[in-house]
Amino acid sequence: MQAIKLDNVTFEYEEGIFAVNGISLEINQGEYIAVVGRNGSGKSTVAKLINGLISPKSGSVTVFGMDTKGKKDIFEIRKRVGMVFQNPDNQMVATIVEDDIAFGPENIGVQREEIARRIDFALKATNTEEFRHRPASQLSGGQKQRVAIAGVLAIKPQILILDEATSMLDPKGRAEVNEVIRRLNKEEGITVITVTHYMEEAFEADKIIVMKGGDVAFAGTPEEVFSCEKELEECGLALPRATYIGNRLKEKNIIDKNAKCFTAKDLEVLLCESFAKI
Ligand code: ADP
Ligand code: MG
Repeated sequence: MQAIKLDNVTFEYEEGIFAVNGISLEINQGEYIAVVGRNGSGKSTVAKLINGLISPKSGSVTVFGMDTKGKKDIFEIRKRVGMVFQNPDNQMVATIVEDDIAFGPENIGVQREEIARRIDFALKATNTEEFRHRPASQLSGGQKQRVAIAGVLAIKPQILILDEATSMLDPKGRAEVNEVIRRLNKEEGITVITVTHYMEEAFEADKIIVMKGGDVAFAGTPEEVFSCEKELEECGLALPRATYIGNRLKEKNIIDKNAKCFTAKDLEVLLCESFAKI
């Protein structure tokens, strides 16, 4: 089932300067999508277009068949599309974790008992149960970001958009958040769109969308996209480290040119094989 459709969408913050320049794309329910692209390529603008924070100048954005320009559907769309942003500190509204998670559902008039159920679910899904009664200010960045995701989950969204949600976190915090995202996608069937500049993170997705100058440059599975070193470079992006090293070793015939080498694990296996031959 189609979750999101952008049809020839343009957007300008300033007259005549297109931040998004004629994008068309479709995302299905349950997909895990990574969006990559250098700074200013339009990633955040696309995220904001999808949940109706901004409206296209031309073209259309539809979420489960509802146009984001439709005044009466916008409330419905916002409930279905949860957003998590870069800075966890800007997303906390209450001091105590469980009050923070309750804020969203309270705001849309969810009944008290249902709110309690949703808090339980959100804490469990994000592995933050132990922080329930703690002040959010005492948590680490990764823990805060998981609480922010819990707050969004309490609205029961079908789509979760994370706009560089891991970029202020240390590697441990990033891994914790990515684990939660993966589980929500696989076990809860939530459609995930994650904007990231960590190529290793993009590798987790079913599909990667590469943006350049307000448009989609190309898209495909992680293996398809990371087979295009030159095209990525033209978009100002680098390969995941292991893929890059693998390509250099292929050029020097240290590992087989046709071998699949994208991840650190692939690289390790191939290097062991080639050392065994020496
Ligand atoms: P990304 O998220 O990929 O870094 P953005 O979607 O934030 O890109 O920005 C796309 C383009 O729109 C950039 O050229 C940026 O400078 C411009 N832009 C973004 N936000 C604003 C704004 N609030 N006012 C004016 N220009 C903006
Ligand atoms: Mg951005």
